[in-house]
Amino acid sequence: IQPEKSRRRVLLKLSGEVIGGGKLGVDPETVRAIAKQIAAAVSDVEVAIVVGGGNFFRGAELSQSGMDRSRADYMGMLGTVMNCLALQDFLEQAGVETRVQSAITMGQVAEAYIPRRAIRHMEKGRVVIFGAGAGLPYFSTDTVAAQRALEVHADVVLMAKSGVDGVYTSDPKKDPTAEKLDVLSYDDALRRDIRVMDQTAMTMCKDNNLSMVVFGMEGEGNVTRAIRGETLGTLVTP
Ligand code: UDP
Repeated sequence: IQPEKSRRRVLLKLSGEVIGGGKLGVDPETVRAIAKQIAAAVSDVEVAIVVGGGNFFRGAELSQSGMDRSRADYMGMLGTVMNCLALQDFLEQAGVETRVQSAITMGQVAEAYIPRRAIRHMEKGRVVIFGAGAGLPYFSTDTVAAQRALEVHADVVLMAKSGVDGVYTSDPKKDPTAEKLDVLSYDDALRRDIRVMDQTAMTMCKDNNLSMVVFGMEGEGNVTRAIRGETLGTLVTP
């Protein structure tokens, strides 16, 4: 039996692109700004975060260059942990208590992934940052965002995007007639091949009745607003 939650609980997905400010590695000023926005919302909402790693390595790309895919994927997962530590640092500087939980054990820098403990942290007002993806090659951090959200009983997945403020009928960078959608179903997204997150992740959300909000990082206070549940971006529904 799932105990009653007293507060809203959200799972925020931050891609490596967001953490790196579009460049290789961590962009400290970008992470500081995100951390401040998260700090502004945590008194009212429980927050868990899944961090991507594409600003360091993507396994699929490395394997294109001849590396063994699984080993390359582990490099990708290790990259996410560096992003977690950067985010943890700036969140703590902003006065937020945090815990990093890693799917690959590395006790010196992170707790192991223990879902019930993650929930307990959130109940105490701590932000939990999930690193190392699922700990499994051939997965993406989008899929992990869906899985972690389900396992810790988050109310919604918040997908932060850079360079776009929601889901459009077609690519707004290429098509001037593209229109932003306020609401979209997973079925529509899958049928129309709209890549708001990978298909495995979308299917998981759809099958388990979990909604998602796709929103842009760029607007003033957008991360805070998304965490608080204000209407912005595109709502994707089961
Ligand atoms: N990865 C993995 N298993 C996971 C999560 C991530 O193998 O459960 C690897 C994979 O190589 C991926 C990389 O880590 O390309 C970085 O994650 P992702 O591409 O999802 O990050 P994002 O695009 O969100 O920055």
